[in-house]
Amino acid sequence: TFRALFVNKESNETNLEIRHITKDDLPNGNVTIRVHYSSVNYKDGLASIPNGNIVQSYPFIPGIDAAGIVEESADERFTVGDEVIVTSYELGVSHFGGYSEYIRVPADWVVPLPKGLSLKEAMILGTAGFTAALSVQQLEHAHVTPEKGDVLVTGATGGVGSIAVSMLAKKGYDVVASTGKMNEHDYLHTLGAKEILSREDVCPEKIRPLGRTRWAGAVDPVGGNTLAHVLSTTKYGGAVAVSGLTGGVSFQGSVFPFILRGVNLLGIDSVYCPMEVRQPLWERIATDLKPAYLTTTIVQEITLEQVPDTLASILKGNVRGRVVVNLM
Ligand code: NAP
Repeated sequence: TFRALFVNKESNETNLEIRHITKDDLPNGNVTIRVHYSSVNYKDGLASIPNGNIVQSYPFIPGIDAAGIVEESADERFTVGDEVIVTSYELGVSHFGGYSEYIRVPADWVVPLPKGLSLKEAMILGTAGFTAALSVQQLEHAHVTPEKGDVLVTGATGGVGSIAVSMLAKKGYDVVASTGKMNEHDYLHTLGAKEILSREDVCPEKIRPLGRTRWAGAVDPVGGNTLAHVLSTTKYGGAVAVSGLTGGVSFQGSVFPFILRGVNLLGIDSVYCPMEVRQPLWERIATDLKPAYLTTTIVQEITLEQVPDTLASILKGNVRGRVVVNLM
């Protein structure tokens, strides 16, 4: 038997407990992986609560990220002993996820671990890091280069935010970070932010259709009216990569930033990001986008037993950087 963390739901309440299961309990798939590390994302927090709208049936093993070693493979692309990463798709949503010592998944979801990353580093990055990388790459494709001016990162101490600050600083951008955590300014300076703003600075009560322009680009995992304000203050020809909703799902915007300033809104989805984008981007994450301080300042390591507390904490916006789960 091996250990896995289950979420169960009864009369609109969820509970989390570690159970001992066997490989026969795992879902269908052609690759079985001994998981070494998983991680904690905001979406995993949502998977642990009654109305999170993530998990489709109970009892269920959450965890949208896993990295480990192939134990069995019926697919010619993978052989026993390969180091691999699996993030998103249905993992931890409708297919048993990474909070388990073993996972079994379709080979189409599996990415070979790129040279230059350890299994642990891959999970310190995880879906949050991949999303940050996709955001940075989309800004590059939208011609937001370092010479164009400041780039804003919202929710900057969170997972997507911390990794985005670090990657942008590494690529030579002037990074402005916004955060609700007044006591984490030193952390953000260490990651490479040159200026720090408060949450309120980027989400004022009154959002004007067009404000004074300030950013060449932005990485926005917060969404809500923060997104409306960021769009209204983005420079002519700039772009905003939106990936998240910690600040809300809807926003009051106007068409003016788009039609008068040519601002581009870039939608970021890591879940069904196609393999032809996903695999080369992991190669970049291991090389030119690889963040500094990944294995030190950014990370906190926990055990499977500590996952429930961290899930509660990430939903309150209290997690700094990335939390990696050691399953060895
Ligand atoms: P996280 O570590 O919890 O980071 C979110 C950060 O948002 C928090 O640390 C906090 O940063 C800020 N925040 C929290 N509550 C807020 C509020 N009420 N108003 C404004 N800011 C708030 O979560 P994550 O795993 O990085 O995910 C961030 C978001 O991106 C989530 O919405 C997640 O679902 C989404 N996401 C989307 C994709 C995709 O494929 N599109 C992939 C990964 C994540 P500060 O304290 O520094 O302000």
